[in-house]
Amino acid sequence: MRNQKKLNNFFVKSFGCQYNEFDATTLTNSLKQIGLVETTLDEADFVFVLNCSVRKTGVDRAMGFVRNLESKKIYLSGCVLKPDKKRFLKKNVELFELDNIDKLFTSELLTFNLQLPTISKFIPIMKGCNNFCSYCVVPYTRGREVSRPFEDAVNDVKKAIAADHKEIWLLGQNVNSYDGPPPLQGGVRGGENNNNKRFRFAQLLTEINNISGNFLIYFTSNHPKDMSDEIIEAVATLPKIAKFIHLPVQSGSNKVLRSMNRPYTRDEYLKLVKKIKARIPNVKITTDVIVGYPNETEADFQKTVDIFKKVGYFQAYVNKYSPREGTAAHKLGDPVLWSEKERRWRILNEIANKN
Ligand code: SF4
Repeated sequence: MRNQKKLNNFFVKSFGCQYNEFDATTLTNSLKQIGLVETTLDEADFVFVLNCSVRKTGVDRAMGFVRNLESKKIYLSGCVLKPDKKRFLKKNVELFELDNIDKLFTSELLTFNLQLPTISKFIPIMKGCNNFCSYCVVPYTRGREVSRPFEDAVNDVKKAIAADHKEIWLLGQNVNSYDGPPPLQGGVRGGENNNNKRFRFAQLLTEINNISGNFLIYFTSNHPKDMSDEIIEAVATLPKIAKFIHLPVQSGSNKVLRSMNRPYTRDEYLKLVKKIKARIPNVKITTDVIVGYPNETEADFQKTVDIFKKVGYFQAYVNKYSPREGTAAHKLGDPVLWSEKERRWRILNEIANKN
């Protein structure tokens, strides 16, 4: 087994959003399962980078990171816009699709067969996004929403439970708009009386809850507009669904929300939170928010502060806005000073950390 030891070590680095963090954990687990060993960056033969194109600083940081790794084999995935792809290719970085990870490896490396169980398992059930928030590149880099068939998602969960995972995360850029093809019944998708009726997310949660075993289901990320009464009811009543809802607000100002192409008002968002809290006592609500969006004034920011105080988030992912080429918001420029974004970032984090 030539160079067995030398070709065995890997390191995963993620830049960007929570989804990338989940992808990084999934990737790490997959690499371990085919026999590679997670090490420090210094010891790694293979370095996997998950890029984020939502903010330019993310790409710049990833570029700076790979620049110092000339002796290693580097693979890159995540949200990568075309111009960024060219920049990375010039640095001898190989691009890969997370769905096709197996193609990356030689048979020599696949001969290892370590199975390292972990508590958490991340299962993508849909990908892509149809929402076109004006600051976001996801619909361009990951395409439109595609949901996996119902039975594939359920089978993946069954396998994870059989492998003794206790905490299972259902993932998608917009997971609560899951709309997978229904199961085959008597050779007909959805059965004779169900024709092409799509299986919505709440039904998927119900089906998964019926699987026997000791586990908890989490899901992320959600869009407030798709948080239906059925989903809230499922979280409230199904014992194996964690009482945890990620509900990205992005801004507390109606003016900024409109400009971001987020189709809800602050009042609608707060009403939704009230409904969730009334139906699910002790629910943990988390959020994503952007500070320093181009038209965000101090008065707009204070409306976000107000939402933070009213909701009492369990955790908040506060992002400083930076423009991304190809998005609708790019033409608005970036007039809010970085120091001002940092001030707003600190204020929201302080409020969130109090909880
Ligand atoms: S909902 Fe908006 S922010 Fe989330 S992935 Fe889709 S376009 Fe991006």
